[in-house]
Amino acid sequence: MDFKFCLPVDIRFGADAVTKNASALRLGKKALIVTGATSAEKCGALADCVDALKSQGISYYTFKGVGNNPEVEQCAEIAAIAVREGADFVIGIGGGSPMDAAKAIAVFASNPDISYAELFKNEYKIAPLPIVAIPTTSGTGSEVTPWSILTWHEIKTKRSFGSQVTFPTLALLDPKYTKSLPLSVTRHTAMDAFQHCFESMMSHKSTPISDALNTHALREFASCMEQLESGDVDPIREKLMLISMLGGCTISHTGTTHMHALGYPLTYYYGVPHGFANAMVMPVYLEELEKHEPERLQRALTALNMSASELKSYVLRNYEITINPSADELPNWAEQTNRQGSTKNTDIPNDVENLLDMFDRIFSGKLK
Ligand code: NAP
Ligand code: ZN
Repeated sequence: MDFKFCLPVDIRFGADAVTKNASALRLGKKALIVTGATSAEKCGALADCVDALKSQGISYYTFKGVGNNPEVEQCAEIAAIAVREGADFVIGIGGGSPMDAAKAIAVFASNPDISYAELFKNEYKIAPLPIVAIPTTSGTGSEVTPWSILTWHEIKTKRSFGSQVTFPTLALLDPKYTKSLPLSVTRHTAMDAFQHCFESMMSHKSTPISDALNTHALREFASCMEQLESGDVDPIREKLMLISMLGGCTISHTGTTHMHALGYPLTYYYGVPHGFANAMVMPVYLEELEKHEPERLQRALTALNMSASELKSYVLRNYEITINPSADELPNWAEQTNRQGSTKNTDIPNDVENLLDMFDRIFSGKLK
């Protein structure tokens, strides 16, 4: 056996995590806070963060308006504001979008002259500014991953970057911030968290530590599935945030697999929310796992205490395909997916032909 597991994030989880751990925010003299449009304010996370900074005598500048599926161009623009304001650390408050943007901003602020291509290749000389992440969704686990997934229009899809230096220094998780999430976003993001744990178990990069965390997370997710379906989600908000964070810890080491890679074009071209896009792909992904990764699949199903067909019908019932691409679009999607490194993490073939066949099966009967 041969593995490593290093997660250099100070994780504080629980009610009032931000205000209780205010002293942990002493990472610099001035913070650049980045949020999405309005949710950080509405859910109370921004006010808690500002109170915590003030209690420590730390000044701050707030940028509101990171878009969903953030664009690399916008991150570079916000980084210029960080430099102008003299910020020496970055706090991302929100779902995966503001947290991922915070990582790119932290890199660009330290390395203003790098190109987008250099960012995505993790080619820069100066360490990024320290990053703090405060999640307000339970989905991406971005608060504990080094990954940042950005829209890059030049290649007409999303691309990720990340290395040992882009892990957040501090993650402050308080499940109460997710109470204001609409049911639909709760469902999509919960699916994303589940998919991370599930795909991490399928990955050939999995380790005994990631398997242990994923097994626990999948058991917890199984206990949430009924309430996610019925819509009675308030009692499971704490569990969902835990699952999301555990998934982040594990994909940091194992990466994701075909399901995420196949989901990106659905988001880029049709704006399907990330976890929902992966769910549309999942039934066909499960068929491929049955063929190419039966043992790993069985391990995950055992943790969930369900069969592949039960899982497939749960997904089909709750995450119906809502888009109708044309057959002409699919070859390009297959080419793009083939370039995603995550498709090399399992034995499912990642040649363009198989990927196109998977897209054909996903949209069978649904094409324009
Ligand atoms: P998101 O794109 O950050 O946010 C989706 C929507 O939810 C936004 O409209 C946001 O509104 C709203 N929202 C957020 N928190 C809320 C709250 N507490 N109450 C009410 N509304 C709230 O969603 P996400 O699913 O968390 O993140 C998706 C992004 O993360 C994608 O770009 C995906 O590719 C990326 N991702 C990253 C990783 C990673 O490891 N880094 C892993 C998976 C996915 P506001 O605009 O007002 O905030
Ligand atoms: Zn994801």
